Amino acid sequence: MRRYIVNSPFKKLPTQEFDVVIAGGGLSGLYTALNIRSSLRVALLVKANLAQANSLLAQGGIAAAVKDDDSPEIHYKDTLRASAGLANTDNVKVLVENGSAEIKHLALLGVKFDSDDQGNWLTTSEGAHKRARILHCGGDATGKLIMQQMISLVRTRSNIEVFENHFLTDIITHQDNTVAGVVAMGDHFKVLKAGQVVVATGGIGGIYQHSTNYSITTGDGIAAALRAGARLNNMEFVQFHPTAFYNPGSNKSLFLISEAVRGEGGILKNHKGEAFMQFRHKFKDLAPRDVVSREIFREMTEAGTDHVFLDIRSKGQKYLQTRFPTIFDHLKENGISMHNHLIPVLPAQHYFMGGIQTNAYGQTSLQGLYACGEAACTGVHGANRLASNSLLECVVFGSRVAESINNANLKQVDLPDENPAKYTKSRLDIKALTLSVRKMMQDYGGIARSPQGLVHALDHLTKVMAMCELSDLKSSDAFELLNMSLVGREILLAALARRESIGSHYMEEEPEIALYPVW
Ligand SMILES: Cc1cc2nc3c(=O)[nH]c(=O)nc-3n(C[C@H](O)[C@H](O)[C@H](O)COP(=O)(O)OP(=O)(O)OC[C@H]3O[C@@H](n4cnc5c(N)ncnc54)[C@H](O)[C@@H]3O)c2cc1C
Repeated sequence: MRRYIVNSPFKKLPTQEFDVVIAGGGLSGLYTALNIRSSLRVALLVKANLAQANSLLAQGGIAAAVKDDDSPEIHYKDTLRASAGLANTDNVKVLVENGSAEIKHLALLGVKFDSDDQGNWLTTSEGAHKRARILHCGGDATGKLIMQQMISLVRTRSNIEVFENHFLTDIITHQDNTVAGVVAMGDHFKVLKAGQVVVATGGIGGIYQHSTNYSITTGDGIAAALRAGARLNNMEFVQFHPTAFYNPGSNKSLFLISEAVRGEGGILKNHKGEAFMQFRHKFKDLAPRDVVSREIFREMTEAGTDHVFLDIRSKGQKYLQTRFPTIFDHLKENGISMHNHLIPVLPAQHYFMGGIQTNAYGQTSLQGLYACGEAACTGVHGANRLASNSLLECVVFGSRVAESINNANLKQVDLPDENPAKYTKSRLDIKALTLSVRKMMQDYGGIARSPQGLVHALDHLTKVMAMCELSDLKSSDAFELLNMSLVGREILLAALARRESIGSHYMEEEPEIALYPVW
């Protein structure tokens, strides 16, 4: 495997020195940065600008046991059940036991969770939660409002330098697997030297044809960590959200209709008007996401249609407009009144449970390399993420990454003498190859998989990777293509290695199992 994207010796590149480099400015990256002690110099890189992160798109909310009828134990059981029993139980305990404290810390930092007239936080239900424990902001604008507050705080911290439009290409390591910094591409390649590097680059949605993620979410940090030799885990587990807005006129990432709409009474219906989830799972429309996505996929396949419907006409206009202002307005702009019309929906790639393997402090298999947020695999989601646990994971584990860095013995770092290999120039049709990778992943690495389909897609991605491996890559499109083929291959290989159906990984004709089957 090609070790570095960059083509020139590190020591010839412009270099800046920091104590910590954080790649990624979503909730996990920003929260980590804010929790790092102010005496440390932090570089924070983002691929586009700070306003373009999936964290800002989060609608439903953030889960935590903050109410009297709830407890970390009940949250723990719900998380484990949704994970099909594959979650890392120690890290789930860390997640649920620290949830309430991190929510209070967010509130202290100025996040305004929706509350009643007495100032008590309002909470709602989402799929597979046995308690209403989802806190939200601005109705359905949770991610946006939390992020706006985090961004404004980061901007006030003099020890944090933000590099917008800077693409993390490479993680630099010494022969003994200790980290020496990163290579980033802004106007040109540059080195940011640091002994502590945090990968917080988010998920992989851009590898699929239909996703609710920003299309720039192409698994770059996971690919850079893989090339540096870090261990990955749970790569076969890709979550498809049951209800993205079906809008054939648009070629953007798909707009999400939050699970909270079903939490507030929304019912899925097929083209005959049948509420099909009533007969498919004990929790009906609020069954775990993998179950609901597959049942929709089944309905669509059997009926030969490309969408089903969500019906929330039981609620009035005023209620829907107040509770779901973002969704209400988006649908209205597209000719749908939530209170009068059925909403056409389809499942779309939404979240990645796999990623860079970490322990409970975000430490990876490489000395000085950390990961948090969606790029990391702490194992808390197992084979399927419980709704609204991902924002919680960002803050709980982001805070622990910062704690670990704050306690680390920071030393002067040197760059390795090794020079990255030279590559021959060759022309790639990057646009066509990118579309082909996305289609392969959608068709064969998606909701329903088969060994033959996985092998077919693997063959294609291996060819694309080989073309990229030999080329002199200069643009972010080209870096993304290499990263997509690398990470896509890891997903397909892991899926091929797991023959049983479990959680979000569904192999056609293989019986489904769950290792924690108590519904
Ligand atoms: C539509 C939608 C709705 C959601 N709703 C919810 C919800 O209600 N509750 C919940 O818990 N979760 C929700 N999620 C999931 C949740 O939002 C994400 O899992 C979480 O925000 C991920 O945060 P993150 O910090 O890991 O990454 P992100 O927020 O995705 O941020 C990634 C950052 O990395 C940067 N980056 C990427 N590649 C590079 C590179 N090569 N170089 C430099 N920087 C790079 C990006 O610029 C960005 O700043 C939702 C997701 C989506 C898409």
